[in-house]
Amino acid sequence: MTTEWNEVLEKLLELQGLDLKIARLNQTLTRAPAEVKSRAATVAGIDAQAEQFTQRVKLLKAQIMLRESERKTHLAKIEKLKEQASEVRSNKEFVAFRSEISNCQSDLDRLDGEVLKIMEVVEQAEAKVAEFDEQRGHEQAAAAKAQAEIDEKLADVRAKRDGLLKDRPTILAGIPKEQFLLYEKVHVARGRGMASLEGSYCSSCGEGQTRNDVYAVQNRTRLVACTSCSRILYQL
Ligand SMILES: [Zn+2]
Repeated sequence: MTTEWNEVLEKLLELQGLDLKIARLNQTLTRAPAEVKSRAATVAGIDAQAEQFTQRVKLLKAQIMLRESERKTHLAKIEKLKEQASEVRSNKEFVAFRSEISNCQSDLDRLDGEVLKIMEVVEQAEAKVAEFDEQRGHEQAAAAKAQAEIDEKLADVRAKRDGLLKDRPTILAGIPKEQFLLYEKVHVARGRGMASLEGSYCSSCGEGQTRNDVYAVQNRTRLVACTSCSRILYQL
């Protein structure tokens, strides 16, 4: 009986060692996508900023178009006024036409000035968009590189984990079903199926164990589960 439990305990410890390694590898596998996500978020942030400036350029260009069309109207009007002016007979009429042409011309000049100013702002915004494009390019290249590195690392980790998972049945073969189920239940629920005994306390949850149980753990005479956390207790 004594030897039997001793052997099972050794197997359980081996199983726990394996399971903890598998758990660490699984953690790495779930953490890695977060790194990739944060890089994707950076790219999305740059895109959002670039989009603001792109929209601004669009609006400004629409304003230029409006002024261009207004300008055409003024030009046509000036042409017409000049034609009419050439046909007037009195000086008074001529002066009136000339004054109207001059008003139209100053409107035209104002529009030209406005168009120039808007074009300056457009140029600045377009430069900003180009800057963001460059940043985005850098960030995407870095993200692609990181992704490739992570993919490679993850493939390694996955292969290692799958290799360990294949070892599990061999270890399980040496553990009776009843004890395995006890271990598995706590392992699944708490991430760790066993706990070492520190003095007379469970090292995982700190619960004190009875003197009888402490002896049984020390002498490996029978299975002792912690009265509080249910982990199988052992002492090396
Ligand atoms: Zn405990």
